[in-house]
Amino acid sequence: MKDSFGRTIDYVRLSVTDRCDLRCTYCMPETGMCFLKKAEVLSFSEILFLIESLAEHGVRKVKITGGEPLTRKDTVPIIKALKAIKGIEKVTLTTNGVQLARYAQELKAAGLDGVNISIDTLEPKEFRQITRVGALPQVLSGLNAALAVGLPNIKVNTVARGELSAEAICRIAELAQEDALHVRFIELMPIGLGSGCSGKSQEEIMAILTERYGALTAFEQRLGNGPANYYSLPDFKGKIGFISALGHCFCAECDRIRITADGSLKTCLHMDDGCELKAALQTGNKSLLMKQILSAIQQKPEKHHFLEKQGDKRFMSQIGG
Ligand code: SAM
Ligand code: SF4
Repeated sequence: MKDSFGRTIDYVRLSVTDRCDLRCTYCMPETGMCFLKKAEVLSFSEILFLIESLAEHGVRKVKITGGEPLTRKDTVPIIKALKAIKGIEKVTLTTNGVQLARYAQELKAAGLDGVNISIDTLEPKEFRQITRVGALPQVLSGLNAALAVGLPNIKVNTVARGELSAEAICRIAELAQEDALHVRFIELMPIGLGSGCSGKSQEEIMAILTERYGALTAFEQRLGNGPANYYSLPDFKGKIGFISALGHCFCAECDRIRITADGSLKTCLHMDDGCELKAALQTGNKSLLMKQILSAIQQKPEKHHFLEKQGDKRFMSQIGG
């Protein structure tokens, strides 16, 4: 599939639930969330039908997201089934890690191609403040389980909050010194609750890391699906990455669409622009479904407009990141 700017779309971020077992301050309100009803969420068979249809039109990579995907009971079977679809080359997962220790072995057996684990700090009290209800040791057991069972392509994602201290940045970066995993700092995006938060720039974080560990050397090879730019540090086993949608706009290389848990197609993270797919999915009519998707892709904007106007009013947990 190509959009009107000639970009090839071969990557889908698929949210399988809007529910979560954490309440990160920049992502979800503490109380008062109105969750989708079970009947509104895409079912196992609707997801399969959707990804089969997309694979026939060139989609090769799927990222399972949420809410928290491991709160959905059939996430592992979904991953296994997506891996079996002709044309799908990579199925990866992004998780808060809370239930990862329990599922790591099953995810490995299902053929998962990579896992991103979101950890914003290694300081337990700060972790609890950010996630409101989370316990850091549980997430670290998830990370250790992922390493122990040999899940491939493990990445730790850290949202670059303004409050992140130099010490906290270094401690997280050191995860990539100790183990063969990559640590990525994600620029805080003004979506939902993120709009009211301050962030740290890639340059600020790079300066802190350079002062502590020496010069960062650009690593040109692409690692995984994403728009991250990576750097090597002396004696680090893994790389340090940055995903900076505002500071280092990567829209020109955008290769993705997003599907929310209730089947809303988004062609840009920022905009509330796509179309509702649930009804077409329920007809079981592939050409009707793909007509809708292909037409939405033609409307994909050239770039985000985070700094110029407000876009999607949903919380990030309702979009999938
Ligand atoms: N619950 C899973 C997790 O936390 O990895 C998957 C869903 S979560 C919405 C996906 C990613 O979006 C997480 O890495 C999270 O930190 C990130 N995120 C949420 N709100 C954000 C914001 N306003 N700016 C940047 N990243 C954000
Ligand atoms: Fe949940 Fe992930 Fe949002 Fe945190 S970032 S509240 S873990 S969906």
